[in-house]
Amino acid sequence: MAIPNSLDTGIGKLYGVGKVREATYARMGVYTVGDLLCHYPRGYENRGDVRLLADTPDSVKSAVVLTVATEPRVARLKNRMTLVKFKAYDESGFCEITYFNQEYLKNVFPIGSEFRFYGKVQRTKNGYAMSSPVYEPIGDTELAPLFPVYPLTEGLTQKQIAKDMRSALTIAQYTDGGEDPLPEHIRAKYSLCVRSFAQKQIHAPDSFSSLAAARKRLIFDELLTFALGVSMSGTKTAPTPAVPCPDTDISALERLLPYELTDAQKRVIADVKRDMSHDVAMNRMVVGDVGCGKTVCAAAAIYIAVKNGRQAALMAPTEILALQHYGDLKELLGKLGVRVELLVGSLTAAQKRKVHSLLASGEADVVIGTQALLSEGVELARAGLVVADEQHRFGVGQRAVLAEKNALSHMLVMSATPIPRSLALAIYGNLDVSRIDTLPPGRQRVDTFAVDESYRARLNAFIAKQIESGGQVYIVCPAVEDRLEDDADILMGDIDGEGRIKDGTPLKSAVGLATELAEIFPQYSVDFLHGKMKSKEKDSVMRRFCDGATKILVSTTVIEVGVNVPEACLMIVENADRFGLSQLHQLRGRVGRGKRKSYCVLVSDAINVEGRAKERLMTMKSCYDGFEIAEKDLVMRGPGDFLRGSGDDTVRQSGGVKFKLAEVCDDASLMRSAFDEAKELLSASPALEKYPALCREVNKMFTLQKGTVN
Ligand code: ADP
Ligand code: MG
Repeated sequence: MAIPNSLDTGIGKLYGVGKVREATYARMGVYTVGDLLCHYPRGYENRGDVRLLADTPDSVKSAVVLTVATEPRVARLKNRMTLVKFKAYDESGFCEITYFNQEYLKNVFPIGSEFRFYGKVQRTKNGYAMSSPVYEPIGDTELAPLFPVYPLTEGLTQKQIAKDMRSALTIAQYTDGGEDPLPEHIRAKYSLCVRSFAQKQIHAPDSFSSLAAARKRLIFDELLTFALGVSMSGTKTAPTPAVPCPDTDISALERLLPYELTDAQKRVIADVKRDMSHDVAMNRMVVGDVGCGKTVCAAAAIYIAVKNGRQAALMAPTEILALQHYGDLKELLGKLGVRVELLVGSLTAAQKRKVHSLLASGEADVVIGTQALLSEGVELARAGLVVADEQHRFGVGQRAVLAEKNALSHMLVMSATPIPRSLALAIYGNLDVSRIDTLPPGRQRVDTFAVDESYRARLNAFIAKQIESGGQVYIVCPAVEDRLEDDADILMGDIDGEGRIKDGTPLKSAVGLATELAEIFPQYSVDFLHGKMKSKEKDSVMRRFCDGATKILVSTTVIEVGVNVPEACLMIVENADRFGLSQLHQLRGRVGRGKRKSYCVLVSDAINVEGRAKERLMTMKSCYDGFEIAEKDLVMRGPGDFLRGSGDDTVRQSGGVKFKLAEVCDDASLMRSAFDEAKELLSASPALEKYPALCREVNKMFTLQKGTVN
């Protein structure tokens, strides 16, 4: 077979990849050999960590090197099953090894030969036992210390992907003549390895240190591509026309509010008034801490649109948030004669049709909904304004669809992620930004504590105390489920910049902790929530918590989104050192929204070790201003947390661009360097004419993912 010599070769051309697997790969966005090479492992099996049988831990996989002691014997069972069994040993004992239905293995293990076995080691009466371990003969060539574990999709196994990856790496090796897209001087400046080396090492690392080098290079590439893309797109978008809304008197609305607008809110509304009165579309983002009162700014914009004879649409990321807005805005704007309708996925088909026709006829002035607003059949007769709440939950693509569907509309987006000014410019270069930097008066501060595991019992008592007095509790965990059986031993994010494994307090998982707490507190209802659940399930879990039926909600960061639960008064964050400061601040903002005195407890053993992690957690105790925290986060951690966007466990996105590796990077200086170099490259070559390879990568990152929906 002739070896295809280009990374653009279709994945279906790989030996052994048929139509079915080709389609499976397509579902993961893998179409070419080059795409496959960019499908990075999510972690590794630590097969190089060889132990004696006696030193292997219970219930997790480990690697042992054993010598075969007895001839493999085949046993036939009733249901046509066959077993191959033999004994092997190391200096600490004997181990019985069994394989099922692989009779040919009887010839693979001659007495006296040595193998590295990888699997769970069980204790038995006579020693040890392993069932169907992975085996590799010890020979002249050194065995790889780390074995990649890939993200999978249905219909694809680790074995298949590993095999295809080997073919892809072979092809890459023959294509090696291709130039490194990164200019030599940048590579030298940051001591980055060459691309081809990085690509090989990320899939088949020779050592931890070469893996670290590979990761650094590939992360830098992603960040640079991203930085180039946003800087280029930020300057290019031309202003679009819109219907002007010159009547901007909202005093009637202001009179209805039970409070006085803060100066910051007044400033934002003044910006909006000025923008909307022009015949050029407003393209404005309102950024402000959780609870600072962004909704009323949206209400003002909506009121202005309606006063000028236009319709408005407000899109929220979840059904529950849409309902909350619908309730609030219907009441407020209803008093001004504005007709507000709701459009969410859970309506019946007939209800949806009714809303569609009210919008198309122009009888309804305002529609509030979820992504359902993007579906076909939703046509506004006189569209004038679109609002996207919690915009970081939507991809660039979705926002674009909303705008395209509603031509001649003004656009207002709201975000609670207080992005530092410098970064906002880079990421949202084409949006004008208004910041709300003060909270409404009389807000109580959420007292924040950082504790370690030794406080667990006291913490549980504190949970009980809050619930007994009528409060509700949020607990946020970094992981969805306890590590699954087939999981990698080491996740990509567990490896630090020098190739060391970060020391592992095991991560608390939402499902695991919820189960534990349900046992500790049988008298309270405990529930869990995570991003892998269907949105209907998520909504109903969230609704039960809002209604007060659930007392303890254990969740991943999906609860970040701006839902208001006034009785929630305690936020506990597990493995708090794993979160970015801005993310912690967002989470803290989930409590203290009612009259109850509220608390935030950050649980992390990192408080016992002097270092960056401790410093960050201490910042949370002393600092309560989202923008200040964001700036500190940028300094301490780099822009990763902001680029990452939603922070949901299943989503890596930043305005729609997904990172493969960059989110695991906590090297602030590398991140800033990428932004600096992008600036430099673009000043020398504004459209990247001089760097065609980089240009291709930018186009790929931004166009391929344009329509990506989280
Ligand atoms: P967010 O910015 O997180 O979307 P909201 O708009 O939901 O915040 O506002 C949070 C709460 O603050 C709401 O209950 C709202 O009524 C109240 N609020 C907003 N502005 C003011 C104000 N100027 N004075 C007092 N309360 C306010
Ligand atoms: Mg809000």
